[in-house]
Amino acid sequence: MKAEIITIGDELLIGQTVDTNSAWIGSQLSLAGFDIQKKISVHDKRQDILNILADVEGRAEVIIITGGLGPTSDDITKYAVCEFFNTQLIMNEMVYSMIQDMMQRRKFPMNENNRKQAEVPESCRVLTNAVGTAPGMWFEKNGSIYVFLPGVPYEMKYIMTEHVLPELKKRFSAQFIVHKNIMTYGVSEARLAEMLTEFETGLPEEIKLAYLPSMGINKLRLTGTGNNHEKVTSIVNEQVKKLYSIIPDLIYGEDEDPLEAVVGKLLTDRKKTLSTAESCTGGNIAHLITTIPGSSKYFMGSIIAYDNSIKRNILGISEDILEREGAVSETVVRRMAENCRKLLNTSFAVATSGVAGPDGGTETKPVGTFWVAVSSDSGTVAEHQTFGNDRMLNITRFSFTALNILRKQIIRG
Ligand code: ATP
Ligand code: MG
Repeated sequence: MKAEIITIGDELLIGQTVDTNSAWIGSQLSLAGFDIQKKISVHDKRQDILNILADVEGRAEVIIITGGLGPTSDDITKYAVCEFFNTQLIMNEMVYSMIQDMMQRRKFPMNENNRKQAEVPESCRVLTNAVGTAPGMWFEKNGSIYVFLPGVPYEMKYIMTEHVLPELKKRFSAQFIVHKNIMTYGVSEARLAEMLTEFETGLPEEIKLAYLPSMGINKLRLTGTGNNHEKVTSIVNEQVKKLYSIIPDLIYGEDEDPLEAVVGKLLTDRKKTLSTAESCTGGNIAHLITTIPGSSKYFMGSIIAYDNSIKRNILGISEDILEREGAVSETVVRRMAENCRKLLNTSFAVATSGVAGPDGGTETKPVGTFWVAVSSDSGTVAEHQTFGNDRMLNITRFSFTALNILRKQIIRG
């Protein structure tokens, strides 16, 4: 079952509007079992629209097109569509009265443009639009279904959900697609792929594995396809179980769980509290933690010890150590965590110190150098890593690395 998505609009091509429609349509069609072959954006020009409609004919069973159906003069899709399907516009009484009702409710007078919106191609099936004025249109030609929808995202979603997806599911024998995302942190994509070589080659034919890396997080997406939903789900779950046994330390969550939410849940379940002493992360860990609703139950506060005077005067790190070891060092980061935990009276404390860049690196401590320590009842652990030169990326990766070490420490208890 092949599908293609066409979006119409100059604003999409010049980057003025981000094409979110095709992303959403793609996800919905994929869940309905379609194989999305292409996404194409074109100018709202008559010839361009005619060309792409002819091009796609017979290539896919379903073609979803959005944009350019509105009442303004730049919306010419409807006219090109009539030409392509060799039909003409006729006034549709039902659409006319729906638009009239909507305008009355909004207390707007009907004008010529609104009237024009009730004109639809004679040979199409009209897909009513209860949340806007432009209806959707359904055509069939040479084995392809063409569905035209307005460009306004919530109108497009309404017509897709109300009319298009239910009809497609009825028409095409359901192929089920089950996705499961496994969130991992701690090794590079290349290293992870190496660790999973055997797993990947042993995957059943109906299961696909994708690596989706972002900011050091490697999302593993398992996709199963089949005509029995229960069976596909169980095969996917079986593979997920296998993953847990191969890389238990690297998996921190499933299906988009943010690391900070996972940490929050671990702390809540164990009734533990947290504080942070942050130098190079400048409070970013505290920020991430507090984006999670309910974090006030376990997060006590943070000392942003950016300048050495704060490390000295508030966190009580001696001048002597700071001079001898440097602020970016194991000893300092350990003391920061230990003293923060005492000062803020928490079960766990995380401390960070590093060189975020782009300047400030030295030969022994290049840009990207990062030290993190986690202190708790069972002692203090510290780790060291070196990242790249991008300041913002470094701050994010320092923070994720710290959260991940904290996660492991909480689990160890
Ligand atoms: P309208 O009745 O509002 O004119 P329309 O069908 O004519 O609807 P367009 O004129 O193409 O649609 O676009 C209407 C609005 O929807 C614009 O703000 C446009 O930026 C937005 N839009 C259009 N296409 C997309 C898309 N692919 N992704 C996200 N937004 C879109
Ligand atoms: Mg428009």
